[in-house]
Amino acid sequence: ISFADFGLDPRLLQAVAKQNYEKPTLVQRKAIPLGLAGQDVICKAKTGSGKTAAYVLPLLASILKKKQSSSAPSTSALVLVPTRELADQVFKSIEQFSAFCAKDLQTVKLTDKLSDAVQRSLLSNSPDIVISTPARAWNNVNSSALSLENLKFLVLDEADLILSYGYTEDMDNLSRSIPKGVQTVMMSATLSSEVDALKSIFYREPTLLDL
Ligand code: AMP
Repeated sequence: ISFADFGLDPRLLQAVAKQNYEKPTLVQRKAIPLGLAGQDVICKAKTGSGKTAAYVLPLLASILKKKQSSSAPSTSALVLVPTRELADQVFKSIEQFSAFCAKDLQTVKLTDKLSDAVQRSLLSNSPDIVISTPARAWNNVNSSALSLENLKFLVLDEADLILSYGYTEDMDNLSRSIPKGVQTVMMSATLSSEVDALKSIFYREPTLLDL
């Protein structure tokens, strides 16, 4: 199986080719078709497995599709991560995969290095994609700087760490602000009781990929 077999938007395929990815990794072969089919997924995946592309490609495909029919700016995807380092990596990956559709997409990364005023101004244009720790995301939802009203795609990357780093309360608060039916993908190195605790965020029964 090759990346072309997924039926991805040509602009995304071009970006995959530019990165010299020859073949999808195991997690990508399993998770990308499910993501493109609109399914919710819990995936056991470590750093280095290609887990980022496994959710970024379906996420970008979903946004590009939505953009064909609606032009009003709104935040379509929220990627929650436990650390600033992971936020940087995900941001970079999204930048690379959207290299051929960059003018159609706005991505914002919220980190604790930015003042509240700067975060607010970054969010004022309703970026398509927001990458954030749960604490930053909830702060901005709570202050109405970030609207999740039109959210279509939610990712929890390194979900096991999100809870062990003490973001449980932020996750509970965010869950209540996320519209019903949002497609949700969870990546986690372990499928522990901590991940079980996050399961309530799913609206549908997720497909479990225990690779
Ligand atoms: P990740 O597990 O998402 O942190 O990715 C680990 C590394 O593998 C990153 O440097 C990616 O650019 C690279 N990578 C991801 N998918 C592929 C692929 N299908 N072929 C080659 N390299 C890849």
